Amino acid sequence: MRNNRGQLIVISGPSGVGKGTVLKEFLKDRENVALSVSATTRQPRPGEENGVHYYFLTKEQFLQKVGEGNMLEYAQYNENYYGTPKDKVEEALDAGRDIVLEIEVQGACSVKKQCPEALLVFVMPPSWKELENRLMGRETEDIETVKNRLRIAHTELKEAAHYDYILVNDTVEHAVEQLKHIIEAGRCRTQTMIDFIKEVDQNA
Ligand code: ADP
Ligand code: 5GP
Repeated sequence: MRNNRGQLIVISGPSGVGKGTVLKEFLKDRENVALSVSATTRQPRPGEENGVHYYFLTKEQFLQKVGEGNMLEYAQYNENYYGTPKDKVEEALDAGRDIVLEIEVQGACSVKKQCPEALLVFVMPPSWKELENRLMGRETEDIETVKNRLRIAHTELKEAAHYDYILVNDTVEHAVEQLKHIIEAGRCRTQTMIDFIKEVDQNA
């Protein structure tokens, strides 16, 4: 039988590139794909809800969860902690649902080490200028935070070469279409089909 487990999909990319926007569109009407809700110590932005966009925790609460082994991965980003709760990921994969982690590059690297079969997608802006425009245009951070995020973006772009696929977010529509193809292709990777190959051979 073909691999019945869901696919672990990791999406990274510089802040403001449009990961959230593309994912929101992609996940519409897609019942067999879940989005992991991360925990963070950063303050909620206007409109962000606890348990929907993030689990907003104090530093103490966050580190306690890490100490209890409840995080699949975690990292510090711009002076805050961010992490992926383990239970929901396992639940989804065991139930045969794909699950998307929208996480930064250190976390992605940690996931790949623990789960080599994870599909890693890096979202790129069409240009640096466009990234600046999107991040500033969002108007959710003060200018210092924006500058820090752009500084971090330089380091993140250096990590893009380690990802399985690069997704250029030129238009949302096109990026969503590309993401669908990437995920389809991910399902056909040899490493995810090994058991199927063996089974066909055994039943020869
Ligand atoms: P991220 O989740 O990567 O930090 P967001 O999804 O919050 O980024 O997007 C940042 C800003 O860029 C938002 O204002 C969003 O509306 C805008 N945006 C996202 N994708 C596109 C696109 N393809 N073209 C133009 N603007 C975009
Ligand atoms: P933001 O503050 O803009 O929501 O997120 C900042 C960065 O943290 C983004 O690059 C986002 O992908 C990343 N991030 C969000 N959740 C997690 C997580 O659970 N783990 C890690 N390592 N990074 C995360």
